[in-house]
Amino acid sequence: MSERLTIALSKGRIFKETLPLLAHAGIEPLDDPESSRKLILDTNREDVKLVIIRATDVPTYVQYGAADLGVAGKDVLLEQGGVGLYEPLDLRIARCRLMVAGREHWSEQAQRLRIATKYVNSTREYFAARGLQVEVIKLYGSMELAPLVGLADLIVDVVDTGNTLKANGLQPLEKIADISSRLVVNRASMKRKHARVQSFIDLMAEAVRKQQEQAA
Ligand code: AMP
Repeated sequence: MSERLTIALSKGRIFKETLPLLAHAGIEPLDDPESSRKLILDTNREDVKLVIIRATDVPTYVQYGAADLGVAGKDVLLEQGGVGLYEPLDLRIARCRLMVAGREHWSEQAQRLRIATKYVNSTREYFAARGLQVEVIKLYGSMELAPLVGLADLIVDVVDTGNTLKANGLQPLEKIADISSRLVVNRASMKRKHARVQSFIDLMAEAVRKQQEQAA
């Protein structure tokens, strides 16, 4: 039997959009994480397991080698710095943009803007690079509410269609980064299980290419 591979994934959009790519690599989960309470999913391959965790925990599991590989949003990797990980492949799924949003564009003379976000580090970096002093308020969800109730002047969040912003009277103002999900790999696994990990990466890359060709 070949070496075992553990792949970390989060539920929801990332899981759904990763499934066809995994299928191309010959991997099919035996359970659906939306209905199963299992956190470790068996697959059709005895030597491949999927661990189902929060999106923000994926880099941690992979960094410490609890998973050999994972799928993580670039938003999460930017925020956490992606330390101790390889990021060999853009899966081009779960695409969106990390944006500054608010009711209206801020004045460049504004004093100490207050910005609500779960992306504290990315927000600080972005405004520091523009020479603007800001106060960053950490939230864990529903960022769009903050400007409506006077908690913050602006928010920083991921935006897809922009419908959530619009429904709350906000508009996208500036793009910080284009976001998509990335394949991340534990550094030790990349060395110790090189052939196995590399052939998985190659199959996933081929699946991404095929998906792009079909979409074009
Ligand atoms: P939207 O389509 O802009 O209304 O996005 C709907 C909600 O889903 C917003 O609150 C976003 O924060 C979130 N969202 C959109 N795209 C993604 C993504 N690729 N990953 C994670 N969250 C997302």
